[in-house]
Amino acid sequence: MIILVINSGSSSLKFQLLNMDDESVMAQGQVEKIGLPEGIFTIKAGGLKNKTNLEIPNHEVAVELVLKGLVETPEVGLKSLDAIDAVGHRIVQGGDTFSKAALIDDTVHEQIAEYGTMAPLHNPAHLKGIDACAKVMPGKPQVAVFDTAFHQSMSPVAYTYGLPKQYAEKYKIRRYGAHGTSHKYVSHRVAELMGKPIEELKIITCHLGNGSSIAAIQNGKVVDTSMGFTPHEGLLMGTRCGDIDATAVLYLMKHENFDADQMDHILNKESGLAGVSGVSSDFRDIDEAIAHGDHNAELARKMFIYRVKKYIGSYVAVMNGVDAIVFTAGIGENGPDVREEICADMDYLGIAIDAEVNNVRGKEVNVSAAGARVQTWVVPTNEELAIAEETVEAAFGKQN
Ligand code: AMP
Repeated sequence: MIILVINSGSSSLKFQLLNMDDESVMAQGQVEKIGLPEGIFTIKAGGLKNKTNLEIPNHEVAVELVLKGLVETPEVGLKSLDAIDAVGHRIVQGGDTFSKAALIDDTVHEQIAEYGTMAPLHNPAHLKGIDACAKVMPGKPQVAVFDTAFHQSMSPVAYTYGLPKQYAEKYKIRRYGAHGTSHKYVSHRVAELMGKPIEELKIITCHLGNGSSIAAIQNGKVVDTSMGFTPHEGLLMGTRCGDIDATAVLYLMKHENFDADQMDHILNKESGLAGVSGVSSDFRDIDEAIAHGDHNAELARKMFIYRVKKYIGSYVAVMNGVDAIVFTAGIGENGPDVREEICADMDYLGIAIDAEVNNVRGKEVNVSAAGARVQTWVVPTNEELAIAEETVEAAFGKQN
């Protein structure tokens, strides 16, 4: 079975073509700068990388370009578009409507559009990708895979904010979480690697990348997660502030005369590692600045680590224990020092890692110290594969 996975943004569209018979990647790439004078189309397949600059006025042209590239690049090995069985789309916000992936029909389309008020930068852009695929490949099953779905198992105690009920209900303000596809994938994978049913495990998954979130997963169900109503809440991120006293935001708006959009921009685009360090949102740049004696960069790094540690502690408390801690995404997979510092001085909780084994990047490895009560793992995330798996299930009613 061949599945096309699409992550459509406002001016970009990433894609991956997967053969689900052996879970191999047949092709991947992206279309960038859609709607701008000079677009970029990149396709990679079987060691080949083709990059073309051309005008890509809209998402429909972008999808046409991708499909043409897939069929006309011999290295992909796709005979015709008919050979694609279904398309899976990553959708950022599914609200409280979707606890699993859904085959897209008019109703699902409408609901994704409605949740656009909560994710104005994402859901409308996803719909552009969906509509373009529907037009270029009419009748092809299309599935929406929601970033929020896996977190729908949280209880009201974990997802409700302390706001007056009438506002929370009217505007559906609650914790939804994000990165659900990644948290689901790595939690299931670690259970497999540990050789235990996920239904018997307490797992804390740390997705640490440019956007970062952490989840407490008990018996295969999310009991809490750090991202909230939007992906802003929780950890210190590349450019997002994460947890902050809401009244500090009001104070700033009042004294600097910021309107809501300006404040949104500051919280989501100018804060976090970038804002505190004044150097960069990228962890590698932060490390380099520290090597040159930059104290602000050092503070940003320490804050990042401290906050992950704090969440791990609180999730151990919430689940009354933990069997496995999983690190994934850019920093989680590639930052041995970060993992070591997060897990330092946690022996009270049974968490300890082996510095030598932990010196690993981008591989599935149990990095726990001998005798540690808790297993600590590095598990590279694979959101595209997870989306493709859910697409097969939602479109054809079976797991690959
Ligand atoms: P992601 O959003 O998952 O792509 O992760 C991006 C973050 O991962 C950035 O802060 C990068 O600096 C960080 N990252 C990627 N590769 C490495 C690496 N080899 N060592 C340390 N951090 C890395």
